[in-house]
Amino acid sequence: MRTLVILGATGSIGCSTLDVVAMHPDDYQVLGLTGATQVDKLFAQIQQFKPRYAVMTDTQAADQLRQLVKDANLSTEVYSGAQALCDLAAHPDADMVMAAIVGAAGLLPTLAAVEQGKTVLLANKEALVMSGELFINKVQQYGATLLPIDSEHNAIFQCLPAQLQQNTATQKLSDFGISKLLLTGSGGPFLRKDLTEFSAITPAQAVAHPNWVMGQKISVDSATMMNKGLEFIEARWLFNCAADDIQVVIHPQSIIHSMVQYTDGSVLAQLGQPDMRTPIAHALAFPKRIQTQVKPLNFFELADFSFSEPEPARYPNLYLAIAACGYGQGATTALNAANEMTVAAFLAGQISFTDIALLNEKALERFATIKAPDLESILALDQEARMFMQDQLRKVN
Ligand code: NAD
Ligand code: MG
Repeated sequence: MRTLVILGATGSIGCSTLDVVAMHPDDYQVLGLTGATQVDKLFAQIQQFKPRYAVMTDTQAADQLRQLVKDANLSTEVYSGAQALCDLAAHPDADMVMAAIVGAAGLLPTLAAVEQGKTVLLANKEALVMSGELFINKVQQYGATLLPIDSEHNAIFQCLPAQLQQNTATQKLSDFGISKLLLTGSGGPFLRKDLTEFSAITPAQAVAHPNWVMGQKISVDSATMMNKGLEFIEARWLFNCAADDIQVVIHPQSIIHSMVQYTDGSVLAQLGQPDMRTPIAHALAFPKRIQTQVKPLNFFELADFSFSEPEPARYPNLYLAIAACGYGQGATTALNAANEMTVAAFLAGQISFTDIALLNEKALERFATIKAPDLESILALDQEARMFMQDQLRKVN
């Protein structure tokens, strides 16, 4: 029996994680669940999984939840606030922490789990993008185990030799005969849309992903391919490689989840349905395999596989992120913060779809060469980039 904390339990990844856990009640015990504001959803999860702890970021939401828990005669202790998230992530009784909060808000609780040497299942890619080197150094320093949940990184991980899987963040890919990581992406809903129509794209169109059902922010990031850019930076840190070692490949069918190319000419790929329960189950049970309710692949039903290179004019955000990866830590922290702001503004109807990249580019220009070597400067830069973007957004409106 392993105990599990799920940060961001009410989100898309959180719910998929609980779906897998529900199938294996003898193997996983839910110690704690967290959510930002969705009281009813977290309460329903508490009723089903009976965790010892629950945290809501919002104080009023926590008060409401506490009352519901009391009225239902459940013993779950309800806490609120950012510190409570960190305390839960660091709880001595937690073996594994699923980091599935969206955005920069996930950084501190995820680091709190790392600093206790936990097994951290990382979905919250923004945390790693913000703090790359520092994050990976802490994983080494505290002996934490980091397992990727992002389907591409989980696929790459599965295609690595077992000895390299022991510690992907410090060993060299070339020592294992690996020449390239091939990061696949569907290209999102606008792969074939006329570029002249891009400025009129609505939030509803942007969040309607052809293959995956996900939270709103990552869905917009998938449409702009900033998601693949963030994943590029994520891969750079998870697998200790340089930008030249990673190639982005558009594969609209989302069946191959990424590939590893070896020097002898072999390419290993991980295939599966576009369903996050597969990478989640892989990481939960690693190195074992457990059952999920994901439908097995039927190759006779699959459409043709196709592959292409992402066009810079269609996906400027992807190339901004790759450029930021080249500049280093400060640039990726600032670009991530800027992008959280522009995506939120787009979803709120304040800016157009094409403004996202135009404004993100301004932030990258402003902060490209800035250094952010420690946590304090990373958090300060995150705030500074948000303030810069707030100014830019005011100018648009
Ligand atoms: P989501 O929006 O569905 O859920 C986000 C979760 O974070 C919710 O539980 C929400 O309550 C919580 N949250 C939001 N803001 C918070 C805050 N300020 N403080 C504390 N908690 C907060 O998002 P998602 O799609 O589940 O994605 C979660 C993370 O996983 C993201 O980083 C995303 O990039 C990554 N990811 C998601 C998928 C996917 O298929 N959904 C795939 C790969 C990676
Ligand atoms: Mg992904």
